[in-house]
Amino acid sequence: MSGDVAVVVVGAGPAGLSAARELRRLGVGSVLVADREAAAGGVPRHSAHTGYGLRDRHRVMTGPSYARALTGAARAAGAQVRPGTTVTGLAGGPDGSRLVTLTSAAGIETVRAAAVLLATGCRERPRAARLVPGDRPAGVMTTGELQQRVYLGGERLAGRALVIGAEHVSFSAALTLEHAGADVVALVTEHERQQSYAAFRLGAAIRWRIPVWTSCAVTRITGRGRLQGVEVTDGRTGAVRFVPCETAVFTGDWIPDHELARRAGLALDPGTRGPAVDTALATSVPGVFAAGNLVHAAETADIAALSGRHAARQIATFLTGGVLGRDRVPVLAEPPLRWISPNLIGSAAPPLGRFVLRSREFRRGARLEAWQDGRLLARSRPVRLIPERTAQLDAGWLDQVEQAGGPVRVVTGSRSGH
Ligand SMILES: Cc1cc2nc3c(=O)[nH]c(=O)nc-3n(C[C@H](O)[C@H](O)[C@H](O)COP(=O)(O)OP(=O)(O)OC[C@H]3O[C@@H](n4cnc5c(N)ncnc54)[C@H](O)[C@@H]3O)c2cc1C
Repeated sequence: MSGDVAVVVVGAGPAGLSAARELRRLGVGSVLVADREAAAGGVPRHSAHTGYGLRDRHRVMTGPSYARALTGAARAAGAQVRPGTTVTGLAGGPDGSRLVTLTSAAGIETVRAAAVLLATGCRERPRAARLVPGDRPAGVMTTGELQQRVYLGGERLAGRALVIGAEHVSFSAALTLEHAGADVVALVTEHERQQSYAAFRLGAAIRWRIPVWTSCAVTRITGRGRLQGVEVTDGRTGAVRFVPCETAVFTGDWIPDHELARRAGLALDPGTRGPAVDTALATSVPGVFAAGNLVHAAETADIAALSGRHAARQIATFLTGGVLGRDRVPVLAEPPLRWISPNLIGSAAPPLGRFVLRSREFRRGARLEAWQDGRLLARSRPVRLIPERTAQLDAGWLDQVEQAGGPVRVVTGSRSGH
């Protein structure tokens, strides 16, 4: 055992760093932030375009400058930020404390913490997990890998490139490829429409002349050693064509980085596949909290940062003996909704006073409704549901939830209600 700290934060991305700063601001004595990467900052560190910081820092910054600002703010507030340190274990200790195993070049050490915040983010599902048949050549990667190679490694990528996906991050990948010298052939999506802002699609079409091929799937990858091309199948006509390219980037399709949470025995939510969390971002294990893209893969960095701040306030309450848990009522999202976060109703309002949701389908004019035991608790104004895009449900109805009642079901009604 190498010491005691009040809080260990796992992950020095926007969520973890913002939480650390807030914990120190609230007077929490010792806060240790561990990150396995060589430098703190999380994903924004290698995302060299602008678009970061609007909601939390009230200005728009590039990813690397945002990462530096958050790291500097956490350190200035008195948090100990330790890059190159992987958290490899999390277990229960004496008196309800948590034992956290840290592994770094200096060796393995165990720290006892009164509370732990997991902020390990999410990653894109790699090609292998997407079960696309074919060869395994070089040149096939995810956006995260692409951005690390281009912005951290300074790599150039000449030749033709295909982006698989058409959500926000897919357009970011296309931009990175163009910066790296590639010629982007198209964005390919199985959905009937792209899922990002119309402005992004227009920008890609006009500035870079990149089309979006909708209702199309990559069905085979070809190349011995180096990628030669991919087979694209049109879901409407069944037509198959071979698209020659040297680079293929799989984008989106996020999975929470839940490895540590799973090994620590935390209950996982079947929808988000991150740890199940209540509105205070408390997990199933007392004293262990989770925030950022680990609980809602994937939102923008400022939302992750604000979720970290929210968790920090709840942790500060927990540390001073405040009661966080009235009985927690599950919140279930029903099809076509895929998931809702937070997924349990606890003692606090959720981050930003709202739940975030994802839909499997496009729907216009849908109303989100919250029901408990046949009782309508809330009905939203009409919203537009787009797969891979966030929908929100204001949490103003929480005081109507019957603590002893059944789960709250969130469903989509039509324009008229049902
Ligand atoms: C290509 C791309 C473009 C984007 N563009 C934008 C944009 O323009 N604007 C915007 O607002 N957002 C953007 N985002 C989203 C934004 O980057 C994320 O929302 C944000 O980084 C999430 O913050 P986080 O702290 O939850 O997780 P991350 O930033 O993913 O940080 C998690 C950290 O945890 C660490 N970690 C994981 N497991 C362990 C462990 N066991 N031990 C120690 N450390 C661990 C990781 O090393 C990582 O540093 C983009 C994302 C991508 C991929």
